[in-house]
Amino acid sequence: MNAEIIAVGTEILLGDIVNTNAQYISRELANLGINVYKQEVVGDNEERVLESFKNAFENSDIIITTGGLGPTPDDLTKEMAAKYFNKELVLHKESYENLKKFFDKGGRELVGSNEKQVYFPKDAIVLKNDHGTAPGAIIEGDNGKKIVVLPGPPREMKPMFDNYVVPYLKQFTDSVLVSKVLRTFGIGESRMAEVVNDLIVNQTNPTVAPYAKDIEAILRITAKAKNEKEAEELIKPVEKEIRRRLEEYIYGEGETSLENVVGELLVKKGIKIATAESCTGGMVAEKLINYPGISESFLEGAVTYSNEAKMKRLGVKKETLDKYGAVSKETAREMAEGIAKAAGADLGVSTTGIAGPGGGTAEKPVGLVYIGVYYKGSCLVKEFNFTGDRNRVRVRTTMSALDLVRRTIKE
Ligand code: ATP
Repeated sequence: MNAEIIAVGTEILLGDIVNTNAQYISRELANLGINVYKQEVVGDNEERVLESFKNAFENSDIIITTGGLGPTPDDLTKEMAAKYFNKELVLHKESYENLKKFFDKGGRELVGSNEKQVYFPKDAIVLKNDHGTAPGAIIEGDNGKKIVVLPGPPREMKPMFDNYVVPYLKQFTDSVLVSKVLRTFGIGESRMAEVVNDLIVNQTNPTVAPYAKDIEAILRITAKAKNEKEAEELIKPVEKEIRRRLEEYIYGEGETSLENVVGELLVKKGIKIATAESCTGGMVAEKLINYPGISESFLEGAVTYSNEAKMKRLGVKKETLDKYGAVSKETAREMAEGIAKAAGADLGVSTTGIAGPGGGTAEKPVGLVYIGVYYKGSCLVKEFNFTGDRNRVRVRTTMSALDLVRRTIKE
């Protein structure tokens, strides 16, 4: 079965809003094993919407629209679907009652323009809007073609799609697509693609696709099969091979993040952590504290920007700062150990570096960063040379610090 997604709205054409609805629906249709033939955006214009329907049905069996279900005259999607299938619009009683209740509750009177939202093409399957006033609908033509009309606001559209459209669509597919996402850090997208290139090129089921996302790289393994279990079986050996090649970089799978994985590990292992940050100014602590439940593990974070603070708060020696400078392996080591001891933590993590744009020298250029992790009596310090602006250097430092903590405590 082929599907086309049509976003209706001049706002999208003008670039005022991003068409995230199409992205969401495309992904969900892929999971259902329904082929998305095309995506389109069309303005609030009767003729063009009708023309889009006609063109889409040349290749597709079903059209899914979002937007244009509101009360104003330029909301015309449902009306054009009725026109396309040559069906009259009739009042849907249950939706009318719901809308009336909604208005009564708000102490407002239901006016004609709002009533427009509860008129639907005859025999349409009306989809309740659990998060707004405009219901959606599935309109089936005599020719077997179908138009699903959904509201524009994503917070209304998504639950309606998940709860009412997916169960309807399931009857038309006899295959499922299952994806597994492996998340890596510390290896670029192109290097990762190189390592698994043979799998990317030679595999058709499952397929293997690399993506870059912010500063991490993701591998998606997707299998098509009759049911989920079979798809998972297809994924297993490919996943195993990828893990064998990329094990040290893979920090998690599915919907997670580096900070979540680190938070989880710290709490599970009962490790107390403290942070001493210079160039990241508290970003490492902020990331860790994003993880709910971190209070069992996170003791304190110090932002020790000046040399005085590094000495006073962390016990970094004056000689160390004089001899090697604040941005040095030695200082990073004393910072990590210092905060662990001062806070009574098992693990201390430190960052010191030159985030730029100024402050770099030939010997110590912008982007030079040291990260220290003190754990169980020994301290590991790693040197990094990051590129990019101040923000990027700081973000990369933060994520690399989390990754170094993860690598230290994962065994
Ligand atoms: P309403 O009943 O709220 O008027 P509607 O179905 O008429 O909803 P539109 O008026 O077309 O929808 O859009 C309402 C809002 O929904 C837009 O201002 C925008 O914020 C969001 N929206 C619409 N279409 C999309 C889209 N394709 N992707 C993401 N957001 C969208």
